[in-house]
Amino acid sequence: MSDASHYAPPLTDMAFVMEQWLDAPADWQRMPAHAALDADTARMVCEAAGDFCAGQLAPLNASADLQGCTWRDGQVRTPDGFAAAYHAYVQAGWPALACDVGVGGQGLPGLLDAALNEMIAASNHAWAMYLGILHGAYACLHAHASETLKAQYLPHLVRGDWLATMCLTEPQAGSDLGLLRTQARPDADGSYRLSGNKIFISGGEQDWTENIVHLVLARLPDAPPGTRGISLFLVPKRLQQADGGWVANAVHCDGIEKKMGIKGSATCAMRFEEAQGWLIGQPHRGLAAMFVMMNSARLHVGLQGLGHAQMAYQLALDYARERRQMRAIVCPAGAGAGDGADPIACHAPVRRILWDLRVWTEGMRALGYWCGHVLDLAAHAPDEAERSGSQALAALLTPVVKSLFTERGFELASDALQVFGGYGYVHEYRIEQTLRDSRIAMIYEGTNQIQALDLLQRKVLAALDGLAPLLQAFRAEAALPSAHGEVLRGWCDVLQTETQALAMDARDDAELPARAAEDYLRLVGWVAMAFAWCRAARVASDAFAHKRDSACYFFDHVLVQAEHWRRRVQAARHLVAPI
Ligand SMILES: Cc1cc2nc3c(=O)[nH]c(=O)nc-3n(C[C@H](O)[C@H](O)[C@H](O)COP(=O)(O)OP(=O)(O)OC[C@H]3O[C@@H](n4cnc5c(N)ncnc54)[C@H](O)[C@@H]3O)c2cc1C
Repeated sequence: MSDASHYAPPLTDMAFVMEQWLDAPADWQRMPAHAALDADTARMVCEAAGDFCAGQLAPLNASADLQGCTWRDGQVRTPDGFAAAYHAYVQAGWPALACDVGVGGQGLPGLLDAALNEMIAASNHAWAMYLGILHGAYACLHAHASETLKAQYLPHLVRGDWLATMCLTEPQAGSDLGLLRTQARPDADGSYRLSGNKIFISGGEQDWTENIVHLVLARLPDAPPGTRGISLFLVPKRLQQADGGWVANAVHCDGIEKKMGIKGSATCAMRFEEAQGWLIGQPHRGLAAMFVMMNSARLHVGLQGLGHAQMAYQLALDYARERRQMRAIVCPAGAGAGDGADPIACHAPVRRILWDLRVWTEGMRALGYWCGHVLDLAAHAPDEAERSGSQALAALLTPVVKSLFTERGFELASDALQVFGGYGYVHEYRIEQTLRDSRIAMIYEGTNQIQALDLLQRKVLAALDGLAPLLQAFRAEAALPSAHGEVLRGWCDVLQTETQALAMDARDDAELPARAAEDYLRLVGWVAMAFAWCRAARVASDAFAHKRDSACYFFDHVLVQAEHWRRRVQAARHLVAPI
């Protein structure tokens, strides 16, 4: 058995996506914020990030899964090696990668942060959970906090010497944040006193950093009901006094969850008892302030799905090349050994799984990095029209990336487990951990059902031609001379037809979009993958000629499933009776 703690960062494919598929270096030249960056530097950053993930995080993944976290008297102990790995991460300056130079960051594009996040999630998803919202918290405070709060908190977050949490969920308020009850009472000194219970808070307590910056959603006394009455507050775990000393704030961790996966991540029940906090942004506009971090947070969760798919592919491929059973009908010369058995990678059903793993993983990387790059363009493109166009594209892409990647990440991990036979069910071979760890990404950061509603109801059908930014991008690719352009063009027409039909029929059937949303998102996702592979085959240099074989596999064997999603969208017209 090959070293099961091994993680091989997919640096060559990352470089292909950034340099050939996206041609990102040309865009960096146009963006004043990134004009100094070139392809070689980007490669070096990815290589260093890969070394960190492979060297420091992957070796801790399996042991942390067995050890888990412990809670005692409000204190959380994380798995052995986790805190030390984080201190090495901070020492190397990784938290500051995509933060503004003005606040001590390195000012690198979010695209490189996306590559970093894919590799962190692939090598150790549980560890990734503690810093999952670090960059989002930075972006939120950067955009909405007062100058005093920024000066007090941002440098700590950028350096990474403090971590942050996102405290939204309450026992009765999950997908529906309008139901949340945590109260915020104004205090005479301009601060607020927060009281209430939050659950499922990732990293709500940990033993890595001295302070934790909680971003908490709560209601002011005059708040209107529902989501219009929610405000955002910064509530630190520890408060600095006028004399420079530190005291504990009234924030308590009452316990941690026992979970199916990501066992090294502390998922905390938090109690705020008149805890001191400060308002971020405008009263009752807390959700709007949080939206600043929504697109990048969803992209990052999608990248967890990609990371799991990459890990599953790598584990399955290594195993399938080593494990020998029976003679295969088609096998590369010399693959078999003297015992008359061939590597299982030669058997047609196993080959098929490996091909699925490859084309989904590489195709999702192209789409995910595209989304990261589009977010960079939305923030830094030189002209306003390109910035707003990119913003519109990112708004459509992020729910697709979040849902499609996390669903495929889980399903592909299950397919990969099959390659291992009985050994796949055993912890030592790691794939069962990948399967368990990957499942949560379909649930948090807005469940995949909520993402699908966001795409179809809030974005596509709410505007006159809501899918247009995405369809335009797909059609522009399909119009170029290439092997698969015509097929892609056909699927763009299908998408347009189905979207128009849904818009029309939803006028008489208000529930239709909710019934069709998940399959609609999958249909968009499959066509987006066709776009990814069409372009990959067109732009691949000779060194990447194998991309053309992968594209053929995708168009022949995978894209056919899009017809299934199309039929399910159409079938949504038949009412599904309440149970
Ligand atoms: C390991 C872990 C880590 C987490 N980390 C954090 C964190 O750091 N911070 C934080 O605030 N929260 C966190 N969460 C909470 C997570 O975001 C919620 O679990 C999630 O938003 C879903 O809420 P819920 O569990 O209450 O499910 P519910 O909202 O009760 O949903 C149950 C089911 O009903 C479906 N559903 C609900 N409403 C609709 C609708 N209108 N249309 C269609 N389907 C619907 C959902 O899709 C889901 O399938 C975490 C959860 C876990 C398990």
